[in-house]
Amino acid sequence: MIVPQARDVISSAGVSGDGQATGGAAPRISDLLRAPAGPVDLETMPTSATPGFAGTGKADAQAELASLGDEVALLQEQLFAQGRAGDSRRLLLVLQGMDTSGKGAIVEHVLGSVNPMGVRYHAFARPTIEEREHHFLWRVVRRLPPPGIIGVFDRSHYEDVLVVRVHQLVPPEQWVTRYDVINRFEARLSTTTKVVKCFLHISAEEQRKRLLARLDNPRKWWKYQPGDLDEHARWDDYQLAYADVLCRCNAEAAPWYVVPADRKWYRNWAVSRILVEQLRTMGLVWPTPSGWNPETERARLRELLV
Ligand code: AMP
Ligand code: MG
Repeated sequence: MIVPQARDVISSAGVSGDGQATGGAAPRISDLLRAPAGPVDLETMPTSATPGFAGTGKADAQAELASLGDEVALLQEQLFAQGRAGDSRRLLLVLQGMDTSGKGAIVEHVLGSVNPMGVRYHAFARPTIEEREHHFLWRVVRRLPPPGIIGVFDRSHYEDVLVVRVHQLVPPEQWVTRYDVINRFEARLSTTTKVVKCFLHISAEEQRKRLLARLDNPRKWWKYQPGDLDEHARWDDYQLAYADVLCRCNAEAAPWYVVPADRKWYRNWAVSRILVEQLRTMGLVWPTPSGWNPETERARLRELLV
């Protein structure tokens, strides 16, 4: 059993131990970047702004990112410890965004300090023959994080209303029903899982630059596929499909955050902040011993040592 005890107070600009914004201090990034209720027009949503960042630029953000990384690591360890003690909770970070938006980079920069034992990362590619034979959520359910773990989805079930819709891989009457199916799935999921969905929002121009950077650097060729340019050509269709996702699947229990991602340093910083803020809302504590007493055990150990 887990008995709440005086919890570690981890200080970070403007956020108290229970995840609430403190008076007069910086607002929560989770509030600033939360997708609005109702229709979304991505063209009016900034890709290169830096909402809520009070520092002077990249160097400041990277310094803060390091301490945020330590906080994510500590909170994850508490989540893990509670999982061991029988708590069924976990967190799922869903990353969506156009190619080069930085979905993979988040794992390195935001979760790089976390004990690998506590993270399950999965990248969803084009479904295999076996996966295609099942319901579109089948492969997703198999990759959900167990208790105590932070799961990271690099792409997700949302591809089934994004690429599938843009390329008409199934008839419209089929994909159009999926928003409701996803909402019901995520509502069930949220009873045990803190669902955090980040849309990494880049501009078409920024993607063009990043694709070019991939072509210019042999170390980045492994990330490139000629098909990436065909997707780039369908930019507007994807933006509309994303706007629908943000509008139709944005429940309070499984919210979307729209992260301006043209500046990599802001993207990493903002996702770190969201993660820390959301972990804090879980009221994590260090579990107290069940079935043994530290005093008794200390006395036993002393006896063994003489
Ligand atoms: P990447 O993330 O760059 O390695 O590329 C993975 C590719 O798999 C992308 O082009 C996705 O659109 C594609 N993909 C992921 N999920 C699906 C899906 N459910 N149906 C079709 N293509 C998908
Ligand atoms: Mg790719």
